[in-house]
Amino acid sequence: MTAHDPNLAHGSRGILSWFGFGANRRGDGPEDEAAGAPDPEEHGIEDRRQRRQRDILHDVGSFLLTHHIEVNPFTLAAAFDIMTGADATLARLVEERVQSRLSITTEWLEDAARSADREDRMATLDALMAKLEASIEEFSKTTTEARSATTEYSSALEAHVGELEQVSKAGAVIAELATIAKVMLDRTREIEQQMNRSELETKALQDSLEEARRKANIDHLTGLPNRGAFETLLQAEHAAAVENGEPLCVAFCDIDHFKRVNDTHGHEAGDRVLRSVAQSLAKISDDRCHVARHGGEEFVVLFRGKTLDEAWQVLNEARETMAERRLINRATDVPFGRITFSGGLADVLAYPSPRAALKAADDALYLAKGQGRNRVIKADGEIQAAA
Ligand code: GH3
Ligand code: MG
Ligand code: MG
Repeated sequence: MTAHDPNLAHGSRGILSWFGFGANRRGDGPEDEAAGAPDPEEHGIEDRRQRRQRDILHDVGSFLLTHHIEVNPFTLAAAFDIMTGADATLARLVEERVQSRLSITTEWLEDAARSADREDRMATLDALMAKLEASIEEFSKTTTEARSATTEYSSALEAHVGELEQVSKAGAVIAELATIAKVMLDRTREIEQQMNRSELETKALQDSLEEARRKANIDHLTGLPNRGAFETLLQAEHAAAVENGEPLCVAFCDIDHFKRVNDTHGHEAGDRVLRSVAQSLAKISDDRCHVARHGGEEFVVLFRGKTLDEAWQVLNEARETMAERRLINRATDVPFGRITFSGGLADVLAYPSPRAALKAADDALYLAKGQGRNRVIKADGEIQAAA
């Protein structure tokens, strides 16, 4: 039995209450059954409700049995969420998986539930940030307009104060008016200064919001886009490539025998090597080629507008450049030896989904490791797609 993550609380109250756990919804438990003769209309509603529950239960059961997934509270609740559409993101991931003809296992379901949860959280965060940014923009516009209005008002007032002072010689009432106008002028200037400060503060807030958003997408160690940012990029680049009829390739790269570097030189030196490989790989990036850290000592590269062969050339050159470098541990002056990486490359559009292409690139990387490392292997799109 798989140890499932308790944080993946896919324990939808829906299915749990069916099985008699948690709060009962009206009509769900025996204690809710109405006493006396049943109302025919309510009876009809009750029938339909029971039919629907039976249908969902049937779908949940079929899903688990078809995919040979063991039945436990987690898988049961996840299947329920998929079948009822309560978790639309997870349902989409399952759909993609089925279309790619890849098997659905308990482990995969746990991973997918985790990533669905992350996608949902990122989407919510993005929406909130966009909303906040729009409000700040609106506020900033209003402040700027108000400030320029007070500036105009203050210049006009200033002119009038001068005129009034001239005329004041003619009478005390006018002199009084001139004093009042002066007070008003001072107040207006004060407001103008406050507006200036607000504008500066708004700008600073806007900058820190932008910085927060940038940081959420950046891997701290290497400065490259992180896995979350890459997944967003992959979706966007995939849509753009399909729309423009351009090729799109994706590669998985993994540092060879990296564990040895850590074991020999320590984790901190390992981090420096990781940064160095990241910088080396990042040299091939531009606005149509994205390099990201996928996690650990693994990187992903996305090539838009390049065929599989063209992308292979670029990545292979980067691999050769890296292999020719001789890195030295600056803390001890001991050479790290040759640092190389292996890569697996796939043509994204040759697969039913970007996720399937990623899997193909990962399989090709596995082949590259098996064939001796320090090489880039192209995935055979057609064979994989047909398999
Ligand atoms: P292979 O050629 O098969 O990829 O061998 P490997 O040793 O690179 O692969 P393995 O997966 O066994 O080890 C990867 C190592 O990468 C294990 C882990 O400690 C290390 N690692 C992952 N992330 C980091 C990191 O951020 N910093 C450091 N220093 N090491 C990391
Ligand atoms: Mg690895
Ligand atoms: Mg490795």
